[in-house]
Amino acid sequence: MRSIKKELEYCTTCPKLCRFACPVANVEYRESVTPWGKVGMLYFLSKDYVPKTTENYELIYHCTGCLSCREFCEHQISVPDILTHGRKLAYEDSRHHKRLEKGLKNIKKVGSIFKNDLNNKIRSELDAVYFSTSLKAKIFLGCVYTEKHVEKIRKVIFILERLGIDYVGIYSNKEFCCGYPLYSSGFEKEFVNYIIKIKNNLSGTKKLIALCPTCAYTLKALYQQYDNGIKAEVLTFSEFILPFVKAMARNKKKITEHYSYHDPCFMSRYLNQVSEPRELITTTGAILSEFLWSKKNSVCCGGGGMFRSTNKVISLDMAYKRIEEFKTIGSKAIATSCPTCLNMFKDADPDIEVIDIIDVVHNFINQ
Ligand code: SF4
Ligand code: SF4
Repeated sequence: MRSIKKELEYCTTCPKLCRFACPVANVEYRESVTPWGKVGMLYFLSKDYVPKTTENYELIYHCTGCLSCREFCEHQISVPDILTHGRKLAYEDSRHHKRLEKGLKNIKKVGSIFKNDLNNKIRSELDAVYFSTSLKAKIFLGCVYTEKHVEKIRKVIFILERLGIDYVGIYSNKEFCCGYPLYSSGFEKEFVNYIIKIKNNLSGTKKLIALCPTCAYTLKALYQQYDNGIKAEVLTFSEFILPFVKAMARNKKKITEHYSYHDPCFMSRYLNQVSEPRELITTTGAILSEFLWSKKNSVCCGGGGMFRSTNKVISLDMAYKRIEEFKTIGSKAIATSCPTCLNMFKDADPDIEVIDIIDVVHNFINQ
C-alpha cells in the first residue's frame, strides 16, 4: 500500500472541513470520532506521540468506510483507506479489534464471512446447470445474499429466465466471499493471498455480475490495487439488467408504488452509480421521492467497514437515524440495492418497509 504520510499531515492540520459529514460522529457526538479525530490518532500513533495500546488503536474502528467525508475534502482524501492502513498496523502490533477475528476464522475455514459453507449451501439450493463451467458470464452472489436472502437469488434466476438471458451462471467456489471483510479489517496479507485464489477461480470468466455493490467494487477496483486485478468485466445488478428491463417495459403494464431510494455507499460514492438504480425503479412505473441527503451525499446505513461487528449499537443507531429521515418523506418504502443496508434498516426498525431492487424488478416482471 502507498505511503499515507502526506494525508495524515493534511487531516491532522485541517480545520475539520468534513466534520459534519461523518455519520458515525453525528451519532456518537464525540469529537474524537470525526474523520479529523480518527486520522489524528493514527498520526500520533505513527509518530509515537501516544503509546500503541489497544485503547488508542480502537478509535480507528469507528468508521464505516462510507467515503462521505471525501465529498467535502479539498484534498480528496480517502479516510477509509488511511484507517484501513491503520488497522493493518494494529494487526501487526496485535492491538487490533478482536471481534474481527471471527470473520477471518470463517473466511479461512469456509470461504465466507459467516460460519456456514455457502458454496455447499447454494449448490444444494439451485439446479446444477447454473454452475456449468462452460458459462462465461457469472453472477457473484456475495455472502450476505446467500446467507440471509436466498429467496432473492431465486428471484434473480426468475428474472434472467423471463428476460431470456440464458448465458449467465453462478460463481460458486470454496472462496465464496469477495474478500472485502479481510481488507476492511486490516488483514492485508490474508486479503492478498485470498484474492489470488479468487482470481484463479475466475480465469476464463468474461463477465461478472455482482449482486452486492461492495463485492462489485472489491472485484472491480480493490483487486487492481494489489495486482493486475481480474480480466472479467464487473457489473452491478442494476447496470446489467437495466437495458433488458427497459426493452421489456415498452409493452408491459406499469406498477404503482412509491419508493425512496437509499444509495448504498459503494453504489454511489465508490462506483459512481446513482442513475442506474433510479432508472430501473422508474422504468417499472414506480414513483421516486428522494431523501434529503441522497446520491453522492447519501448517509450510510451504519453497516459498512465491519462497523456492525465492532460497534453494533452505534451502527444500528445510524440506521435508525436514516429511517427517521425516511419517515419525513411520506413514501411507502425504502428501496435499496445492497443486502447489508436492507438488513440494517430491518434490524433497526422491523416495522419499516424496505425493498431490494431485485424485489422491485421481480414484482414488475411477475405481475
Ligand atoms: S478528510 Fe479532508 S476535510 Fe476531512 S479532515 Fe482530512 S483533510 Fe480535512
Ligand atoms: S468514511 Fe464515513 S464513517 Fe469513515 S470517517 Fe469518513 S464520513 Fe466518517
